[in-house]
Amino acid sequence: MVIIMEKNAQSDHIEHVEERLHDQGFKIHKSVGMEHLLLGVIGDTTKLDVRDWKVLPGVVDAYRISAPYKLVSREFKKHDTVISIKDVQIGAENLAIMAGPCSVESREQLETIASRLAGRGVRILRGGAFKPRTSPYSFQGMGEKGLQILRETADKYNMIIITEAMDKDQIELISQYADILQVGARNMQNFSFIKALGKARIPIFLKRGIAATIQEWLMSAEYILSGGNQNVMLCERGIRTFENYTRNTLDISAIPIAKKLSHLPIIADPSHGTGIRDKVIPMARAAVAAGADGLMIEVHHDPENAMSDGAQSLFPEQFDDLMDQIRIIAQVVGKTIELPETV
Ligand code: PEP
Ligand code: MN
Repeated sequence: MVIIMEKNAQSDHIEHVEERLHDQGFKIHKSVGMEHLLLGVIGDTTKLDVRDWKVLPGVVDAYRISAPYKLVSREFKKHDTVISIKDVQIGAENLAIMAGPCSVESREQLETIASRLAGRGVRILRGGAFKPRTSPYSFQGMGEKGLQILRETADKYNMIIITEAMDKDQIELISQYADILQVGARNMQNFSFIKALGKARIPIFLKRGIAATIQEWLMSAEYILSGGNQNVMLCERGIRTFENYTRNTLDISAIPIAKKLSHLPIIADPSHGTGIRDKVIPMARAAVAAGADGLMIEVHHDPENAMSDGAQSLFPEQFDDLMDQIRIIAQVVGKTIELPETV
């Protein structure tokens, strides 16, 4: 952190700031700019709140020069994190494809979709059993029955599962069935939940909150890593902006930014990021071109009758076409993708 003192700051104001810094165990590097005295704060500043320093008498400004997160940062770990789940690898040069319906609706529904996706080479099956819905009158998910269906179907097709837990009481149950636990956008700052995930042993898929800055998102990931769970993937799933043509605005720029700031894999979710079926495909292409480590795509064999998010679910044929395109883009950005070519 750097603290900038007022032009001709009173010496007692300067001394007060210095004293406070010393009391908290920091060393100070003083330098005189053209007009201002600058106090460089040396030590672990992660716990400091810059606002506490900005409001001190004689201070014009204070700002951080190092990030408030550590374990998730590239400075802490230079190389990309690779998360291995069974024989599936997520991160680094691997391009992970996660696909499936928004919600598990029945055994038949999941079987139809999973068999199609597995035939296309998809290894990570998504499907919600506990659904965070805006309306209490909407379908809330099949619960544990949905988890059983997910597990049986995934095992049949040699797939792994990602599914959402909505609060900390569900972690144990989800961990019994699933391979990756999804934290939904609305839960990114549910602190008792993310703290508990630090103690869990299941890889975590952390969706960015609908109004979260990239720094807040990384801080949430930091909670999980600092709790002891190093297997975290970040997911950009669109943020709320003033634009209402799309359901959310998929922040493509967050992908290269997160990749620069953090070693964690970053997956893009253009389904929730746009909310409109025909916009999912171009945004999926863009996300991979921007350096995403994977995609999460909602696919449904009968989206018109889907119990949730039908409007943003691709028909299986559209998904197949998308994968053909993604394979080409993956090559350009140096990613490998384990998907057979369609004939
Ligand atoms: C989902 O993946 O179906 C979901 C509800 O996601 P989000 O938390 O991004 O809205
Ligand atoms: Mn959905």
